[in-house]
Amino acid sequence: MLDKIVIANRGEIALRILRACRELGIRAVAVHSEADRDLKHVLMADESVCIGPPPSSDSYLNIPAIISAAEVTDAVAIHPGYGFLSENADFAERVIQSGFIFIGPRPETIRLMGDKISAKEAMRKAGVPCVPGSEGALGDDFMENLRLAKDIGFPVIVKAAAGGGGRGMRVVHSEAALMNAITITRAEALAAFGSDELYMEKFLEQPRHVEVQVLADSHGNVIHLGERDCSMQRRHQKVIEEAPAPGITETQRRDIGNRCVEACLEIGYLGAGTFEFLYENGEFYFIEMNTRIQVEHPVTEMVTGVDLVKEQLRIAAGEPLAYTQDDIVIRGHAVECRINAEDPETFMPSPGLIEQLHLPGGPGIRVDTHIYADYKVPPFYDSMIGKLIAHGEDRASALARMRTALSETIITGIRSNIPLHSRIVNDSAFKAGGQSIHYLEDLLGLRE
Ligand code: ADP
Repeated sequence: MLDKIVIANRGEIALRILRACRELGIRAVAVHSEADRDLKHVLMADESVCIGPPPSSDSYLNIPAIISAAEVTDAVAIHPGYGFLSENADFAERVIQSGFIFIGPRPETIRLMGDKISAKEAMRKAGVPCVPGSEGALGDDFMENLRLAKDIGFPVIVKAAAGGGGRGMRVVHSEAALMNAITITRAEALAAFGSDELYMEKFLEQPRHVEVQVLADSHGNVIHLGERDCSMQRRHQKVIEEAPAPGITETQRRDIGNRCVEACLEIGYLGAGTFEFLYENGEFYFIEMNTRIQVEHPVTEMVTGVDLVKEQLRIAAGEPLAYTQDDIVIRGHAVECRINAEDPETFMPSPGLIEQLHLPGGPGIRVDTHIYADYKVPPFYDSMIGKLIAHGEDRASALARMRTALSETIITGIRSNIPLHSRIVNDSAFKAGGQSIHYLEDLLGLRE
């Protein structure tokens, strides 16, 4: 097993990784910014190293500082968590060149999947169903692009090849709007992602977001762990996730799962990963792959009993997967609510001192959070302060447990989106299951 690793992240996922390290007897080094000395995992880690001032660009994105922290502490590997440098192929490469193990896929895989055009091409070749659209990047010839859009059929969506975080895309409903949309998206993509490469897809009107979790070791073993439904979104950001996805049959799960496994073998995938699909009228359409652990991984852990972070660490140590495909059985249903420090109505971030904190408990309840009473939520980072996960024998009982857990939770001093979650889990259409990615914004009256 790995002797000592650096956790190159913060917040709940850093604590989650630390817990997995403890279980496996791995020593853990916490790296943190000057604003994060009081983070729970920093206080608990075997060692900690301050890597810079509060802004992420000077700390959690500071590649030389993170690598030198690994050097001075004699660590052997670096876990990037999610966000920050987790999908940065250059970082993975520098980690490896400096003599450390990168806990994730090979840099060339991250690069292949980081460019959405090359990712789609690779997936199409591997037999994974994709959203119909342009083959490769859009050129500068407007008539050619117009012909392409007409072939695909309006509405279409113009997307940045290097896009991420729900940014760098624009829906186009008519011929008249196409030219302008391409020009604006190109300029935005260049400014935000440093690349103006665009591609075009059919805009699916009422899809759900359904994604498949995979694990691949360095011995050629690949398994899938079923799917998650992450359709409850606001501004393309997931708010509630669940596993399994309502209405997906055992046969559908096996078919799409096997396609993903085949694709992993095809591209030489290593580690934990997620294939994201839009799902409409019974069909899956690949949109992108996340080459890292995801925020919503706990719902899969609850229904499969597999500890995905421990598997990541084992895979990085060169061990074979502890499970075969036949070992993976979906038991019951799990739901996750992302708890954010924000105003539940205006969504404005609400950092500050947590005064009182009462977390829920009881059968089937899991809380992944780094916060504690007297902890001060810094204003510099993402507003997510934890995740509430409920598992039950079926969807209704998981939701019943979630409703109780939300009503038990008390956080004072800052505002949180718990009232929003209570509203969603009590909503009759949400309770019925299977709503589209637009449902939440419609419910909140946010869509034009
Ligand atoms: P990002 O990397 O920014 O998350 P994605 O390609 O995963 O970008 O798309 C993010 C979200 O945008 C999807 O979850 C979906 O809500 C919407 N979206 C993307 N492509 C399409 C499409 N072809 N049709 C409809 N909605 C789409």
